[in-house]
Amino acid sequence: QRVQTQNDIETAITEIFAPEDEGLRNALATAKAAGLPAIQISPIQGKLLQLLARAANAKKILEIGSLAGYSGIWLARALPEGGRLISLEIDPKHAMIIRNSFANAGVGDRTEVRVGKALDLLPHLTNEAPFDLVFIDADKSPYPHYLDWAIQLSRPGSIIVADNCIRGGKALRGSDDEQEESTAGLLEYNRRASSDPRLTSLALAVDSGHTDGFTISVVSSPV
Ligand code: SAM
Repeated sequence: QRVQTQNDIETAITEIFAPEDEGLRNALATAKAAGLPAIQISPIQGKLLQLLARAANAKKILEIGSLAGYSGIWLARALPEGGRLISLEIDPKHAMIIRNSFANAGVGDRTEVRVGKALDLLPHLTNEAPFDLVFIDADKSPYPHYLDWAIQLSRPGSIIVADNCIRGGKALRGSDDEQEESTAGLLEYNRRASSDPRLTSLALAVDSGHTDGFTISVVSSPV
């Protein structure tokens, strides 16, 4: 039997383990109709977020960067009854779309979208900490600051996931455009995630095409 291509294998894994349902498909269609860019995570990444949330027994999840609510739906569906997802989004135009998509996917009761610059909103979350899982997927240059906040808002055993932490290798070893602010933010994120003694971390190439992916950390000592 022929060896299947990476694409075939990804399609099969998506079909078997991470099929999109009506709520997820509707969120993508609504985002497209509203002219939002299709820069959401892949279904495999969504399922991995769900799996990590369940592994952490997550009851409270924080997301930084909502776009149209696609990753938020995957995360919210991992929550038990009474669980809560707080999603931070800078663009007020997105907020209405996100809330509608959350409601349409049946997770409106357990989700909240807060509109503003994440670095302004994060200090107001200390009363709601600890979060069991934090997903970072907003602007790239402040990623190291988002990591500091994620640790501060965590407990031992919390999981921190950051998207776009590979960027074709640039976020791992740098490149000619290392001076570019976003690349520098991602490089620094990986440097800290891999060396902070409070974290056990790994970068995993999990997007379609395997040129980008998550850095996943477990908070492994008191914060
Ligand atoms: N997590 C989403 C998903 O997979 O469905 C995709 C998020 S998209 C890559 C990044 C989002 O972060 C955009 O919606 C953008 O408006 C938002 N964003 C950018 N800078 C931000 C900031 N400083 N604070 C909060 N949100 C920000």
